[in-house]
Amino acid sequence: MATVKLTSVGKIYDKKVRATNDFNLDIGDGEFVVFVGPSGCGKSTTLRMIAGLEEISEGIIEIGERVVNDVLPKDRDIAMVFQNYALYPHMSVYKNMAFGLMLRKVPRTEIKERVNAAAKMLGIEDLLERKPKQLSGGQRQRVALGRAIVREPAVFLFDEPLSNLDAKLRVTTRTEIKALHQRLTTTTIYVTHDQEEAMTLGDRIVVMSAARGVGTIEQVDTPLNVYRYPANRFVGAFLGRTPMNFLEGRLIKQDDAYYFVREESKVSIRMNHEFNDRLSPYEDRSMTLGWRPDAMSETNTGIYQGHDNHLTLNTLVVEPLGREIDVSCQTDDGIRLIARIDARDDFPEGKAVQFFIDTEHVHLFEPGEFGINVIHPDGQVISNHIEDPRPQAVPA
Ligand code: ADP
Repeated sequence: MATVKLTSVGKIYDKKVRATNDFNLDIGDGEFVVFVGPSGCGKSTTLRMIAGLEEISEGIIEIGERVVNDVLPKDRDIAMVFQNYALYPHMSVYKNMAFGLMLRKVPRTEIKERVNAAAKMLGIEDLLERKPKQLSGGQRQRVALGRAIVREPAVFLFDEPLSNLDAKLRVTTRTEIKALHQRLTTTTIYVTHDQEEAMTLGDRIVVMSAARGVGTIEQVDTPLNVYRYPANRFVGAFLGRTPMNFLEGRLIKQDDAYYFVREESKVSIRMNHEFNDRLSPYEDRSMTLGWRPDAMSETNTGIYQGHDNHLTLNTLVVEPLGREIDVSCQTDDGIRLIARIDARDDFPEGKAVQFFIDTEHVHLFEPGEFGINVIHPDGQVISNHIEDPRPQAVPA
């Protein structure tokens, strides 16, 4: 096993197209790190540079404290699993898994032991004599996993390994990959564009974007911290099954409290006062309020009960999810929002309904797609220091 370290790594294709810029990341021994972001943000490029399949234009990559910039892929002690499986069609499953070890002149009996052990772990013992074309997509991906496992590498690299599987198989294979990592504890770097895959698999996730023109890291943290404390609006919008709600308005101060207001929508939300210090530089400025659909409810459960933290919204469509319903609504001035609330059969569509926002779970962003989260400026302050961000009661 090994650590992986990237220092100021950048990639310029053909001396002109810059794909990534100044990528810095320390991956711990045994850690499972996921690169996630929309298509074109440089995830694969970065992974392929770590694998040695792509030249490194700038910076340093270390695997196990050894600089590998000029080390051939086969000598980097990594094993990679690709989206398209990349199996040899004319070889049996056994041979596909054994081939890399044969090239390395591993003794025959040891190859047999390793292949059989991996096949057992993956439940493909009965398929060893078959050719890849006699396998389903899910089985082929298991063989590709098996081929990586038998190598016993220091690092696993996965490039969208589940993208060719159907939705159900994707979820079960995902769980298996996680269980496999718990068992083998091999350092793993995993690329996906699917936020749910990233959330469920990663010890830490690296959220990337390309919207500024080149691949850039937007935030690195545990899945729950990235979800709860997005560093900027892009991260808030990208993670989560249902999009975050955003409303543009202004931050004003009244008495000793800050309010987010948007008069056109008749919205006035009182911000929690423990954030006053962070909010004061933004007084009277245009800001974007962000909150997840499940931070809305039909009754006021927030800490400012009795205050006006409500929105009156026109409900459009109700989507039952099971225990909850998603209600698509819009403000008087036509901004679309989604509320996720406890399911009930008689929820009215096409009516004006009052919702409350739980102000513990709102974010305030500077304007623009990458506006920083001014309440959680480094994306993890709160989670690291205070379990419950509400103000503590002072003993009498
Ligand atoms: P992702 O994996 O996040 O979808 P990629 O790493 O594949 O992103 O691509 C990052 C950027 O680099 C994109 O703009 C892409 O068009 C460009 N790119 C990728 N491969 C090449 C290549 N071989 N030659 C030129 N540009 C490339």
